[in-house]
Amino acid sequence: MARGADRPSRRGHTGAVRVRGDGENIRRDDLGKGHGTGDLSCEAVSRGERGTAGERGVTASAWIPRLLLFDLDDTLCDYTSARDLRLRLAFSHALAEAAEMAGADTGEDGGRRSDPPAEPEFPDHIERLAAASVTRDPHGSDHFPDLLREHGLGGPAAAGAAIRWYRENRFHGLALFEDAEATLLALRRAAATRDSRIGLVTNGPSEVQRAKIDLLAVERLVDFVLVSEEVGVWKPDLAIFAEALRRGGASPGETLFTGDSLEHDIAGATAAGIRAVWVNRQGRPRRPGEVEPDHEIRRVGEVLDLLGIRPG
Ligand SMILES: [Mg+2]
Repeated sequence: MARGADRPSRRGHTGAVRVRGDGENIRRDDLGKGHGTGDLSCEAVSRGERGTAGERGVTASAWIPRLLLFDLDDTLCDYTSARDLRLRLAFSHALAEAAEMAGADTGEDGGRRSDPPAEPEFPDHIERLAAASVTRDPHGSDHFPDLLREHGLGGPAAAGAAIRWYRENRFHGLALFEDAEATLLALRRAAATRDSRIGLVTNGPSEVQRAKIDLLAVERLVDFVLVSEEVGVWKPDLAIFAEALRRGGASPGETLFTGDSLEHDIAGATAAGIRAVWVNRQGRPRRPGEVEPDHEIRRVGEVLDLLGIRPG
């Protein structure tokens, strides 16, 4: 089906799940019905993919796309929280190192302060360092020496300690969101009855993303994984979406992409003719010029609501 004619209309808020037609709200129950303005399902309906009463975990109105695509970081796993915690711990190490070097620590342990706080409660200067680091470079650590120097904290040894800890503990605290596994399992059960597939499309270096996927044990929950470095292009490049469609054996109109990044996930999927669900956990408003998603949700588990699939 050609893109455009069946594209859903644009979005809004209907409680937790945000779906909107052109000037009208489309109720969740309507997602499996063929509206003139387009909806999630007109192609699926013609293919007889609507749910049937009594089918396990699927409501009568469910529409299961032939291909369900998901982003990984900050969609299925809480990368940002883990990254922020890791920065705070790394800078705690740096300052402990600096204090130790200066002999300034007079703690009960005889002056050794090599262990950072175990709990994510940090003094203000650590919070400021972490925030400044994210602004400077959201992912790297090469800037740590300059950052510490600019804040008048620590020398080369301290910066080295921060970099070392940050790199050696790159997955510290990383975990799936609490509803991610249950969501994928429910989708897999629903997809199994429809010859549908589930794919992961993630940006990043292969070595990092593959290690992360192993740690999170997420590959068992999907049918295939695409890592941008392995494909040779990154989201929002259309080529990686085309490869995902090829791997999933689906057309754009048969596919749903769920991700947290308007710039990489939603813009790319939309340009590729794929219906896009924006996971907007903070509920932040879209800025002028940002792409408009087809649907907006707060938690990845709300994809089940969107599709009429029962969890569990
Ligand atoms: Mg992401």
